[in-house]
Amino acid sequence: MARIGFVGLGNMGLPMAQNLLKAGHQVEGVDVSGAAVEKLRAAGGASAETHKIAAARADVVVTMLPAGQQVREVYLGNGGIIENANEGTLLIDCSTIDVETARAVAAAAEARGLLMLDAPVSGGVTGAAAATLTFMVGGSERAFVRAETILQTMGKTIVHAGGSGNGQAAKICNNMMLGISMIAVSEAFILAEKLGLDAQKLFDIASKSSGQTWAMTGYCPVPGLVPTSPANRDYQAGFTTAMMLKDLKLAQDAARASGATTPLGAEAAALFGLYAGQGEAGRDFSGIIRFLRGK
Ligand code: NAD
Repeated sequence: MARIGFVGLGNMGLPMAQNLLKAGHQVEGVDVSGAAVEKLRAAGGASAETHKIAAARADVVVTMLPAGQQVREVYLGNGGIIENANEGTLLIDCSTIDVETARAVAAAAEARGLLMLDAPVSGGVTGAAAATLTFMVGGSERAFVRAETILQTMGKTIVHAGGSGNGQAAKICNNMMLGISMIAVSEAFILAEKLGLDAQKLFDIASKSSGQTWAMTGYCPVPGLVPTSPANRDYQAGFTTAMMLKDLKLAQDAARASGATTPLGAEAAALFGLYAGQGEAGRDFSGIIRFLRGK
């Protein structure tokens, strides 16, 4: 069993750390919020005062932080993980961040003889609690092989997407498709309504036709068609509009930096930005249908 330092015990990190504990690993948690650390202690974990201390004692460090800025601070800053981890330590960053930061941090880690993976997830808080997350992993084959059993403790589907940063690339490309498809599904159901076509009929036809997409069959923004959809509970998240907007902005930054043409990704980012600006940032992203209806 491994000694694991876990930095970032928020909505996702805490249940992930709890699953590591359940599997018998020793987990030492770090968070700027004392309340978050207390929750890990209550679940049988230990706490470290700083990520520096946790890194120096760990075989494996997992981070689950809000954004690239915190990842840079925690890994590269003075007294950071990279400076303090022992040679051979495996570092796994599960936060969703920009590809550039992921690659810069991995390069700094490798220069010190550490193994580093970017391993962002999909599956949300429910997947984190149930250990059914999908991990999209970027980094060397050697690091991936070492990380696999740890990741299997927290997730169900683990995919090695290639070298450093490719996990983040997979995450933002997937979520750009999702953001665009949610708008497409919303527009189609709004148009159908205007044309007098029953929503259930459109669902039955399109789910067996070429318009089929998970945004409709798995997460329909129209209430009453998919029992588990947030649409049935006043669009309570789920996956918040703020999170979708964050991922769409990361995709746009990456598109600009790489010279990719993504006009629909840009439009989706603009529309989710407007929807979030109406005080709906905490609402589920499928609530975009209400914005498009003009309500
Ligand atoms: P969160 O805000 O609930 O948790 C982040 C935690 O990091 C907080 O507890 C915060 O106190 C802590 N933190 C911030 N700066 C720190 C620092 N310098 N040192 C130590 N701790 C620090 O966020 P979350 O929902 O758990 O999301 C974490 C990451 O996972 C994000 O990158 C997010 O985009 C990604 N993600 C979230 C979801 C979701 O549904 N919540 C789904 C997929 C991916």
